[in-house]
Amino acid sequence: MPELPEVQALVEFLRTRTSGLVVTGVELGSISVLKTFTPPPQALVGAPVDGVERHGKFIDLDCGGTHLVFHLARAGWLRWSDAMPATVLRPGKSPIALRVRFDDSSGFDLTEAGTKKRLAAYVVGDPAAVPGIASLGPDPMAESFTLEQFAAIAASHRMQVKGMLRDQSVIAGVGNAYSDEVLHVAKLSPFAIAAKLDDAEVERLYAALRGTLTGAVAAASGKPAKELKDAKRAGMRVHGRTGEVCPECGDVVREVSFADSSLQYCATCQTGGKPLADRRTSKFLK
Ligand SMILES: [Zn+2]
Repeated sequence: MPELPEVQALVEFLRTRTSGLVVTGVELGSISVLKTFTPPPQALVGAPVDGVERHGKFIDLDCGGTHLVFHLARAGWLRWSDAMPATVLRPGKSPIALRVRFDDSSGFDLTEAGTKKRLAAYVVGDPAAVPGIASLGPDPMAESFTLEQFAAIAASHRMQVKGMLRDQSVIAGVGNAYSDEVLHVAKLSPFAIAAKLDDAEVERLYAALRGTLTGAVAAASGKPAKELKDAKRAGMRVHGRTGEVCPECGDVVREVSFADSSLQYCATCQTGGKPLADRRTSKFLK
C-alpha cells in the first residue's frame, strides 16, 4: 500500500505531468469504485487541472473547482501513460477501476489487484466532503506538527503505539510499513502504550517519525509512478524483512502475525531482547 512518501511522490508526479492539461474523459471500470453520485464524473470533463494535493493518503486533483479524490487502499496503484489506449473502459472484470484522459492523449488508470476491492474515488466540490479526509489527524510532515503537538497526542492515547501511528484520525499518512520503520528507528516496542511513554521516548519517536518520512519522501521524490513500489520496498529496514538481519545490531528481524497483516521488528533493538508473543505461531507450536 502506498503511504505518505509514495502518495506525496505520486502527487508531485501528477502535478508535473498534468499542469496545463484539460480532462477529456473519465471512465469507470468498476461502478463500485465511485463513492459519490453528484456531481457526476462527467462534471470533470472539459475542466483544466488547477492543482494536485495530498491529504493523508488521499490524492486530490482540482479540476476547475470540481475535485477528483482517490485513495489507493492496499492493492491499488496508479499507472500513467503518455499515450492512453483509444478503447473506452467499460465496467467489467478489468483490474482497471478508473481511467482519466487528458487533452494531450496522456492519462492514467487506477488499478487494483486482488478480490477485495477497497480502492475508492470521489467527485466532490470540496475535498473535506470526503469522510476519510474530514476525519484526518494532523499531517506529520507539516511544519506545524511540532514535538509539543505530538507529545500531547501520545499522552492522550492509551493504545499501542503501532496502532496509534497507523490511525489516520490521529496522524495522517502513516501505514503498516512506515510505522514498523519508525518504531525500529525509535527503538520502541510496537506494543508499548503511547500514553505511558516517557519524555525521552516521545522525543525519540517524534524524531524517528519526522526523520523516516523526510528520508522516504526525498527518496521517492522525482521517481516515476511505476518505480515507487520497488523504491519503497528497497528502503525498508525491517518492514517485510522477516528472517533477515537487522541493519542496526545484526539480530534477526522477527514478525508478529495478525488475521490480515503482520508487523516486523527487532527484539534486540526494540523489546529488550524479548521476542513478542505471536498468537498464530504459538498456537501452531502447541
Ligand atoms: Zn536490531
